[in-house]
Amino acid sequence: MKCNIIKDLIPSYVDEICCEDTKEVVGEHLHKCEECKTYLNGMQTDYVEKTPVYDKKASLPFKKINKKRRIQVIIATLLTFSLTVIGAMVIQEVGVVNQFFFPMKSAIIEIDTVDNKQEWKSLSFEGEKHLRYKGVFWNKEIINTANNESEILLRVKDEEGNIVIEELKILPGTSVKLKELKRNENYLFEIKAENGRYFINAT
Ligand SMILES: [Zn+2]
Repeated sequence: MKCNIIKDLIPSYVDEICCEDTKEVVGEHLHKCEECKTYLNGMQTDYVEKTPVYDKKASLPFKKINKKRRIQVIIATLLTFSLTVIGAMVIQEVGVVNQFFFPMKSAIIEIDTVDNKQEWKSLSFEGEKHLRYKGVFWNKEIINTANNESEILLRVKDEEGNIVIEELKILPGTSVKLKELKRNENYLFEIKAENGRYFINAT
């Protein structure tokens, strides 16, 4: 077939609007004819430049990938968000969990008596008059912390004021274990010590 006929057909060949037979003839000719091939290449360059919009065949899978990718991004965002929220909640609860498994309460007492006359002073553990061993994780230990200057004498009363434990001496940096105290009962702890400030921990 003559080159000028082929050249006439090339635009519809490029646009893929010609019939299969024409496509075949043009394709065969292009295979052999360098001149028409150059013409076609020129046309295609023109075509791409003039129509930067992607043809349908190319844009469809592109859109599909985009949609899939978008869903992935949404899922990843949601996951990150939930993990952040859960993380924040766990951190908030750690204190509570800690207090449950490793219960500890502290009492600070300032003893300032005239002539350093020692008398029983009741301890207040974190503002509470009574200490109650709730749960199974209490050691039932009273610690005279190492920073305290002197020994203390400790005694324990029950809710009715009966003495349950009589005068236990605790040196600074040591502790006593009060196994006889029961769970879920209120106890009043009293100390006798020289003037000064004392940090007492109950675990
Ligand atoms: Zn030709």
